[in-house]
Amino acid sequence: MDSSINEQLNLPYNDIKSLTKAELVSLIEALGDKKFRADQIYDWLHRKQVKDYEAMLNVPKALKDKLAGISPVTVVEQVEKQVSAIDGTAKYLFRLSDGNLIESVLMRYKFGNSVCISSQAGCRMGCRFCASTLDGLSRSLLPSEMLDQIYRIQADTGERVSHVVIMGTGEPFDNYDNVRRFITLLTDENGINIGARNLTISTCGIVPRIRQFADEQLQVNLAISLHAPNDELRKSLMPVANKYSLAELMDACRYYVEKTSRRITYEYSLVKGVNDGPKQAQELINLIKGTNCHVNLIPVNPIKERDFKQTEGPQINNFKNKLEKNGINVTIRREMGRDIDGACGQLRKSHIGE
Ligand code: SAH
Repeated sequence: MDSSINEQLNLPYNDIKSLTKAELVSLIEALGDKKFRADQIYDWLHRKQVKDYEAMLNVPKALKDKLAGISPVTVVEQVEKQVSAIDGTAKYLFRLSDGNLIESVLMRYKFGNSVCISSQAGCRMGCRFCASTLDGLSRSLLPSEMLDQIYRIQADTGERVSHVVIMGTGEPFDNYDNVRRFITLLTDENGINIGARNLTISTCGIVPRIRQFADEQLQVNLAISLHAPNDELRKSLMPVANKYSLAELMDACRYYVEKTSRRITYEYSLVKGVNDGPKQAQELINLIKGTNCHVNLIPVNPIKERDFKQTEGPQINNFKNKLEKNGINVTIRREMGRDIDGACGQLRKSHIGE
């Protein structure tokens, strides 16, 4: 048996964990088996979250052997784990089946456990302050590889994950179709069943994809990496700003709110002497005032390859107060796992360097 059955059935992946329930049913039926086998297998994959066919105890061996040849089970393998002594935040380094390395982070909040996943191995967006983009993009992740970051962390801790943020390495809207399918699988009531409202997707601002995503009318939270309140400054920090102006980006954000009624979060990393003065605060106010939004101020996490410094406490508060006086909701991002930190992408980077 070869994998041409995937083509006959028009299945987009030879990767069983990336198939929707309906696609899995069509595959199982094409193999001459009953639908309930598909139900069982889907349950093993997405509820019990087993790592291989062998573990699917109530599925006949002949079927499992057939499937293993057509559509293997994709998993990510844990290579390293660092746990914060301060707040229990855990950073995981996983290896993909082709050897690529990715990072995920488990954060423990009062409202539940949240996992920050990577959507790509590396990134090609080139944001100046970010460690994940220094070596460029290796490849985009499959839906199964995004899901399995969560599944493996649940298995490792024995604790339920209730929230997911796509805020690790990679630009999710540079991997649109796989991310879209990941969301379908993540929110499926027959699977891990995490509600769209408990999912946040963070983008550097690929305008046409924001609009496309708005048209899906999901209840997913959207975070925009803004980091600068004018085009000139934004271009100096984020190459994507050369492609889409802030005016276009803000239009797309308004469209997202209109379509979904969800509030947008703007992420703003404060870089000392670069984007943290009263002038920039005022420009930011002019840009977003009166829109349904929330601002997340993040002291930039310095990476050794660049000379960016964190804004200091009092200045952060000045910036925050100025926004608040203008009726804008602001939080200063609590730094989780300070002791294990290193900017996002640095654990991965340090291993690639080896
Ligand atoms: N590509 C997506 C998601 C990944 S980055 C995006 O751009 O939104 C997740 C967030 O971390 C983004 O807001 C990004 O700008 C920010 N970030 C990256 N490196 C950082 C650093 N060194 N310090 C602070 N924030 C950083």
